[in-house]
Amino acid sequence: TQNTVRERHRETAAEVCPSNTGIYIGGEFVPAAADETFETIDPTTGEVLTAVARGRDEDVDGAVEAAWEAFESTWAGYSAGRRQRVLTDIADAIEARTEELAQLETLDNGKPVSEATIDVRGAAEQFRYFAGIVRENPGETMNGGSRYGQVVKEPYGVVGQIIPWNFPLMMAAWKLAPALAAGNCSVLKPAEQTPLSALRLAELIDDIVPDGVVNVVPGYGEEAGAAVSGHPDVRKLAFTGSTAVGKQVMKRAADTVTDVTLELGGKSPVVVFPDVDVDRAVSLVSTAIFYNTGECCEAGSRLFVHERIADGVLDGLVESVDDMTIGDPLREETDLGPKVSREQVGRTLDYLTRAREEGGEFLTGGGQPDDGALSEGCYVEPTLIDALDHGSTAAQEEIFGPVLTVFRWEEYDEMIRLANDVEYGLAGGVITDDITKANRTARDIEAGYIWINSYHDLIPGLPFGGYKQSGIGRELGAETLDHYQQTKTINLSLR
Ligand code: NAD
Repeated sequence: TQNTVRERHRETAAEVCPSNTGIYIGGEFVPAAADETFETIDPTTGEVLTAVARGRDEDVDGAVEAAWEAFESTWAGYSAGRRQRVLTDIADAIEARTEELAQLETLDNGKPVSEATIDVRGAAEQFRYFAGIVRENPGETMNGGSRYGQVVKEPYGVVGQIIPWNFPLMMAAWKLAPALAAGNCSVLKPAEQTPLSALRLAELIDDIVPDGVVNVVPGYGEEAGAAVSGHPDVRKLAFTGSTAVGKQVMKRAADTVTDVTLELGGKSPVVVFPDVDVDRAVSLVSTAIFYNTGECCEAGSRLFVHERIADGVLDGLVESVDDMTIGDPLREETDLGPKVSREQVGRTLDYLTRAREEGGEFLTGGGQPDDGALSEGCYVEPTLIDALDHGSTAAQEEIFGPVLTVFRWEEYDEMIRLANDVEYGLAGGVITDDITKANRTARDIEAGYIWINSYHDLIPGLPFGGYKQSGIGRELGAETLDHYQQTKTINLSLR
């Protein structure tokens, strides 16, 4: 019952919520300069988890100053080997707390704890990966004639990093690991919906990282976020979030000609060829859209299924939705938890209304579950929409919820034209056993990351990022280090 769920969540919150919810500056947790706080809510129960310091300009100023001080006094002097050790220790600290961090993430975000556990492991892996490559970054030299040239890579000093609520801890790791590996200090702004895992991470690494190397300023986007992205002493910005806000961040960065990397939204196609086993296709398509309640920038939210097997795949999808366990995300068996907030529920429901008006046929789902225990939480039913025009709003815009729009195809070229007919280009999926078709389709989709017979699994070392309005730059790969370093050429005359 809802009472049991509430009890379970309260008890878990008492165990795992961070005790420090201030702003983490220079190795100390302090109240916001204006002494204000905001509440972070558990989307499963609607109850307040805790109050968190509400950072604004002045707090960001303090964090940037502390970061520069740390850079100049300690971090810039650390050898690659020493930074490697710090990153490895962070990975160990995260791994040692996997269960606790996963529960915290589930409370704050609503994602099933089984998926939160994968996030925590992924976060630790990030630190391990960048610990591994940090020494392989020696620069280059060029000899010849009367010249000796050196190309050295130098950190920016202080970087600003703004992250979203859908993978809070993992996004913090994707940002911090390469930035620290490259020798920078960071001011990190977690999303206001989910600030707790970043604060807990700060507590966990407090003894590992020199004071001021990592600073965490929780707060709202237009306040703390805007202050980070417009700060004149921040030399590099990395942002993950919506395309609309990414554009604002980029515009603000233009004032100081600050380098920006952006990981933005997506509307990724999943293409199913007629040769595949229907059950396998159903399982992959379902994972592509419903993982993390559809709150994934890379979610496979447009299905292009070949006419010949379309009915079988769609019947299978409806059946698999019926079999899903929707409910308390703290329970291991839960497949689909609530969305992160009431606001996000409203946004998804608005898209469903639009889709209905635009002629969509709902094969399953289409609203909030009316089951008593679920109706209090931020749940949205897994939804399949057929018969929409590809130009319709629900097919073009990022819904960021458990909603799949379905298109049937026969003509390959026309299917590819539609698959690419969106402003986004983050990811795509191809499901077929024909190796030639798989590779051709992977090439033909305009996107930065293509899965063949798989979806969502990300391997550190393989770059992740978007084409078109899905972003600039790549995370997860060795090239990410380049985004956090500037190139200096030293041209020396031997005469
Ligand atoms: P959002 O862009 O509103 O928020 C993301 C972050 O930016 C938050 O920390 C927020 O506080 C901050 N922010 C908001 N307004 C700001 C401003 N004016 N200046 C500076 N910072 C500001 O995004 P959202 O709607 O909360 O999150 C979901 C979106 O994020 C989706 O569109 C999704 O596709 C995208 N996303 C992309 C990736 C990726 O890797 N490409 C990953 C996760 C999420």
